[in-house]
Amino acid sequence: MAREERKWHHKFIQYMDMIVNNQNYRGLRIEKKADGSYSWIATAKSETGKARIAWCENKAKELGIPIQPGVYADVMLAIHPTKWKVCQTCGCEMSLYYHYPNANFLKSLNQTFQSDYTECDHISDIWDDLIANGICNERIAAFLISKGGLSLNSCTASKQEVINALEYACRKGNKKCLGPGAMSNFPDRFDGFHTYNRCCRASQDKGRSKENLKSYTKDRRAYEYWSDGNIHAANQFMGSSFFDGISADHIGPISLGFVHDPRYLQPMTTSDNSTKRDRLQLIDIEKVIETEARTGVYPMSWYSRLIWEFIKEHYRNNVSKIPNAYRDALKQNMANFMYILWYILRYAPQNGEGFLVHAFLQPNFKYFEYSYSFNKLGEITSKTPRHFTDRNSNETERYCRIAIGAVYDFSDKENRQLTPQITSEEQRTLAFICAKIESGGPCGEIKEDVCTLVDKIQVRIILHI
Ligand SMILES: [Zn+2]
Repeated sequence: MAREERKWHHKFIQYMDMIVNNQNYRGLRIEKKADGSYSWIATAKSETGKARIAWCENKAKELGIPIQPGVYADVMLAIHPTKWKVCQTCGCEMSLYYHYPNANFLKSLNQTFQSDYTECDHISDIWDDLIANGICNERIAAFLISKGGLSLNSCTASKQEVINALEYACRKGNKKCLGPGAMSNFPDRFDGFHTYNRCCRASQDKGRSKENLKSYTKDRRAYEYWSDGNIHAANQFMGSSFFDGISADHIGPISLGFVHDPRYLQPMTTSDNSTKRDRLQLIDIEKVIETEARTGVYPMSWYSRLIWEFIKEHYRNNVSKIPNAYRDALKQNMANFMYILWYILRYAPQNGEGFLVHAFLQPNFKYFEYSYSFNKLGEITSKTPRHFTDRNSNETERYCRIAIGAVYDFSDKENRQLTPQITSEEQRTLAFICAKIESGGPCGEIKEDVCTLVDKIQVRIILHI
């Protein structure tokens, strides 16, 4: 046993520590070994095992969970502080809920959507990825509803409703579509779950990892927001071993205009794992400022630069404005910027797309020409030229396709979270710009016109903060 424990992943050791010291487990028996480490494992027949069972049944009464088969799993899930468990073998983190496709369901899913997901892809990530690949919400909902025999309407049910209902039907009902990230195993394990996760089950197909899928979805989001920064290095860093078992998170949300760059990425904390982060917080602003000072890499995409400069100058005396007024200003600016892009595509049908690609996307192509190495902070320690294969040129093509596609998607009222606000004077300038684009005016000059307009809009937004 000792030999086995020695190779436990360091993240699992941290996880055990976090659990043992969490107040939810106060009184649950665990022995300490001579070397000070915990005896995580105990058999049901041992004194420790019996004490754990008594404790758990008592906890069930406290929580109002009936004592019947499955009670230990219910209690240990209910009290688990994060509902995400670290794998003893590989250190990766998986949901304790029934969130992962089982074999038969997976086969049918992959056939239906011509996808190649694995048993370790979280159903929520799969959903996002299908959306990213152009499948509509309703189709995904309809598929899951029919598989789970759920009484929900695919036209009206939200992603969360469908996933929650399917998860429950599989965990507590007789549906077999989804399984948990770790099987329950009480009292043998202190937290009540197998030490290894689904990822390291013997039979496990080790295809794509959850992280790869996540990063795929994320780089796509950066393209959608026309984010600046070294976008290729950011993608590479997100997929690196530094983020094994944890997701990468933008310190400044890209949905607010911050850059997609390795220096502005950090590991996402467990508590943030399931929430979409487009919040703006004091701690993030200060981290962004520190990072800029340390690296010299500008944190904001060009179209939100003035608002960022304003925030930087004033946030200290206006901390209460950060989560609302400042965030809203950046969000509104993003909506306006997307509108400008859409307007150009719509009213410069001949040359508009070519102009936008040339003026605003092509300058970022250079980042795809290198492979990068990083230190822990995401700083680039070396770069080597890549051989330009077909795959590389596909990357810039995909970048443009996603960026342009997102502008059209944005114009769908359904997808729009915020109405653009453009004054009639700005509107006239925009029409003038489109005429200039269609008449084949010089790209550099028209780009200047667009930047001037975007700056003017930002100045107007700043006046109302
Ligand atoms: Zn594992």
